[in-house]
Amino acid sequence: MDKYGILKKYFGYSDFRVGQELLIDSILAGRDVLGIMPTGAGKSICYQVPALLLSGITLVISPLISLMKDQVQALNQAGVHAAYINSSLSESQISKALRLAAAGQYKIIYVAPERLETYEFLRFACQAEIAMLTVDEAHCISQWGQDFRPSYLKIVQFIRKLEKRPILSAFTATATEKVKEDIACVLGLIRPQVLVTGFDRKNLYFAVETPRKKDDYLMRYVQEHRGESGIIYCATRKNVDQVCDRLRAQGIAATKYHAGLGLEERRQNQEDFIYDNCPVMAATNAFGMGIDKSNVRYVIHYNMPQSMENYYQEAGRAGRDGERSECILLYSAQDVVVNRFLIENKEQNPESTWEEIEQIRERDEERLRAMTYYCTTTDCLREYILRYFGEMGSGRCENCLNCAREYEETDITQAAVKIIACIRECRQRYGINVTAGMLAGESRAKLREYGVFNYASYGSLKELRENEIKMMIRQMLAEGLLATSNDKYAILKVSGDADAVLKGERQVILKRVKADAKKTSDVRSSGSGKMRKSDILNSRGLELFERLRALRIEIAREESVPPYIVFSDKTLVDMCVKAPLTKQEMMQVTGVGENKYERFGERFLAAVAEFTAGRREKYYLERRMK
Ligand code: ADP
Repeated sequence: MDKYGILKKYFGYSDFRVGQELLIDSILAGRDVLGIMPTGAGKSICYQVPALLLSGITLVISPLISLMKDQVQALNQAGVHAAYINSSLSESQISKALRLAAAGQYKIIYVAPERLETYEFLRFACQAEIAMLTVDEAHCISQWGQDFRPSYLKIVQFIRKLEKRPILSAFTATATEKVKEDIACVLGLIRPQVLVTGFDRKNLYFAVETPRKKDDYLMRYVQEHRGESGIIYCATRKNVDQVCDRLRAQGIAATKYHAGLGLEERRQNQEDFIYDNCPVMAATNAFGMGIDKSNVRYVIHYNMPQSMENYYQEAGRAGRDGERSECILLYSAQDVVVNRFLIENKEQNPESTWEEIEQIRERDEERLRAMTYYCTTTDCLREYILRYFGEMGSGRCENCLNCAREYEETDITQAAVKIIACIRECRQRYGINVTAGMLAGESRAKLREYGVFNYASYGSLKELRENEIKMMIRQMLAEGLLATSNDKYAILKVSGDADAVLKGERQVILKRVKADAKKTSDVRSSGSGKMRKSDILNSRGLELFERLRALRIEIAREESVPPYIVFSDKTLVDMCVKAPLTKQEMMQVTGVGENKYERFGERFLAAVAEFTAGRREKYYLERRMK
């Protein structure tokens, strides 16, 4: 069987995604590889497919116990013999697994890095034929990365002890240039095929909303997406408790996760979420590492996180199955204040020098600023994210709230010149509040205290409201004409780029959401999800989807696995579209491989047949009628 045969038989897909094929071919040609691909891009297939074609065993080093369990469950369901060896097993279970492994029972074995140096494991490894060693979350090997794990260095010693060097493949979702070099160098990859795929997640819709009452927005959204799985990230434990209580009071099956809960409660709640007993999870950012749930349809941030890195990682937990999903951030200016407080009061490493602490604080402030710009920009949100991570987008994605909104454009160049003049006149000593107040000609006590009346700029924009001036200043900050100091005072400074405005070579344009357009886009973003399954399926199709989903839960319970491991949402939607009545037709559905068909295919066929009463033409017709 070739790689396509394996892909269809075990995973049920007919085509590889961009990049997967290149890495697979390289591995099969005996070459080391390094894949840097964002979450949800499909890294696992890159080593699982060749693992099944190579003669010998593939060892996968992974740092997270929950992830290993998930992957092995999914492989077993797909008909692949795989096992994991980590500290969640007892000594006798480990011995048994190694005995079976030595007898050639498993093609793929997941191992925690600590395990590599144990005598028992080494003895097994030195006798077995190890075709490939895969390092998952490979950035953990770099001391430059955020998640350095000393235990990852054991991998290198382990490889040296093997009689024959296996093919090495390493994968990670996040790697700066430095970390990338480190992975290749520390692991000793030989002429690796390196692949970096884009950070863009096309199936994710991005929006920043500023509702007057976040709670009302949230409750409405979750109600409108009943039955769907979602995560709501909150900044504090208290918020998590409140959000969860309110959702429950509305009859939503919600659960929660934060560091204030006991270990057992956290484990139970996480499991309830994964198994879809409670499809909605309210959590702090403590939740998510190692969560591989593929059918999360939305991630809502109740508060603005501290950095784009955090945001993209958390939001990226939506839509891992490639189905349309939404990432919505509920922003209020208060979020900035809270985050700044958290940064200032962050616990520091007691061994750090004052200078180091200062450096970290500046970096945190810088990240917070970039995050705040994301929340206030009127440009394409996806473009903003990609640029932040060093990539270029197309300028407009047509799949974020900002691209959907209609804006009015106003030329504010003249006002910008006055703003620059004011900041210069005050010798760059004030923040946005004093500057805007002064320009608007306000006379509150605080402004009097600063003696604002003595400046020529006082009241030079008095025809405008203070809020409008602030909006203009924010636009100028976003365009890099102005900057702020790196401390909590955020003093306004004029940057070199402003010269072009003063010389009349550059215009400054302010974009504002059209009043009536805002309403429609609000409805749009909270409505029951454009171009999602409800767009592909009408109510008749959705009815079938619900039936199939119920069947999936029933099977998941019988098999004691999470529902998405039986079939993904994407597979169920495709099943509703194709409404297969024969084995051949069922095998055309994306995600239905031979092994899954053998196990569950007939039950799903029966459900479709019952629903359509075998009269598919009629069902198709009903499905097309809106
Ligand atoms: P990653 O490890 O990169 O975060 P996964 O390996 O978990 O991503 O894959 C994400 C999802 O994409 C999974 O549901 C997987 O089955 C699906 N997937 C991977 N490759 C393909 C493919 N070639 N065609 C369709 N779906 C795929």
